[in-house]
Amino acid sequence: MKALRHWVVRHAGLVETVYQAGLALVPIARALGLGALEKAIRPIEAAGKGLLFDCQMCGQCQLSVTGMACPMNCPKKLRNGPCGGVREDGMCEIDAAMPCVWAEGWQGQAQMKDADGYRHLHQPLDFRRFGRSTWVPIIKGESDRFPLSQPGPPRPRAAESFETKLKAGRFVVTAELSPPDSADPEDLLAKARIYDGLVDAMNVTDGSGAHCHLSSQAAAALLVRSGRTAIAQIVCRDRNRIAAQADILGLAALGVKNLLCLTGDGVETGDHPEARPVFDLDAVSLLTAARTMRDNGTYLSGRKLTTPPNLFLGATANPFAPPMGARVVNLAKKIAAGAQFIQTQFCFDPDRLDEFLRQAGDQGLLERTALIVGVGPLVSVKMARFMQAKVPGVWIPDALMARMEKAPDAKKEGVAIAVEMVARLKETKGVAGVHLMSHRHEDLLAEIVSRSGLRASDAGE
Ligand code: SF4
Repeated sequence: MKALRHWVVRHAGLVETVYQAGLALVPIARALGLGALEKAIRPIEAAGKGLLFDCQMCGQCQLSVTGMACPMNCPKKLRNGPCGGVREDGMCEIDAAMPCVWAEGWQGQAQMKDADGYRHLHQPLDFRRFGRSTWVPIIKGESDRFPLSQPGPPRPRAAESFETKLKAGRFVVTAELSPPDSADPEDLLAKARIYDGLVDAMNVTDGSGAHCHLSSQAAAALLVRSGRTAIAQIVCRDRNRIAAQADILGLAALGVKNLLCLTGDGVETGDHPEARPVFDLDAVSLLTAARTMRDNGTYLSGRKLTTPPNLFLGATANPFAPPMGARVVNLAKKIAAGAQFIQTQFCFDPDRLDEFLRQAGDQGLLERTALIVGVGPLVSVKMARFMQAKVPGVWIPDALMARMEKAPDAKKEGVAIAVEMVARLKETKGVAGVHLMSHRHEDLLAEIVSRSGLRASDAGE
């Protein structure tokens, strides 16, 4: 079955032609009144599409704009393109034996008449339609079966410090802060103190790597209460659209001004692999929800808010994971959905970043968002090998790996590489700042900031 599904995507242009020919039968089916026969049509549709596409009858089939690859076969059920964890060989982050559905779809879409179909913004799934036919609405002539999102213009709003710095063109520094496994706020604040005076905002992770920690939203509120600038995160893995929108309101009510919207890692990588993943939304539709709440003053349902949340919205990008062309499309979708700033995966390969920037620049995307590039130290050869082999979405070029292996002191070399990277990024057009990440080596991040002279450039502010 899977083999046929992969064959179909590899021959998406041919399948599209056959599909279009089938559409010629729609007027006949309509004249015969077959649109009323959902019960008769549904089993035929389920059997045919099940055979060809591994169809799961979501009832909202849009294969013509997903390269004939069914997104329901993506373990995260993403509706708007690949996650950042696609492996270097194009295989899935969660199931290394399966090609990434969206990477396959990218190749499939290129063969189709509407090669730009991949750019459409897809709504989150309507779970009431599961098990129902997609063909019947087509036969009935329902024109806008599953409308694509159309975000409205941003509402004028007051900007806060982090946003103001980016808009002023200042080269910003953000740092990732993993909340502790503790109910004592002091444990969080002790970690935050390492970055005081060094960074423009602390980015509090939300169950990173699918590991449970103090909640990102609570931690961000504690940081704000202590006078710091926080970027809260919300991942789609752990909450449905009702919980996500409640958290967005809660964050704003607690004084948090910045929100990063992410899809999240699969539960398989974490300390609760037996947990049920949610993925009701993906990062694009979560952004749409946050932007709708802020700019339209309503929930996704259309119900009115009394006071909308005033949030500066961000998302992530991975310029280093395949399929490269789809990465820029994914960036464009996130910007269209409302991302005002973007934080990237670790950059160990400036050449790949340059190509991503070139394509994004050609499409005018870099003027519409602030791109903050991920940087972090490799602290040992073992860690570098582990990240390269085991952390999907991280790419370390062979030359850099060889440099680490030859170095007499790998930790020093790793810091030196990070300092060189920051220096290069400071000079790279289209890069608005650096986002520092290092699990359990926060002291090294502080060293990288001071050795890079980042704060010195802010003197006088
Ligand atoms: S790599 Fe990510 S986007 Fe691709 S199929 Fe796997 S979970 Fe889905």
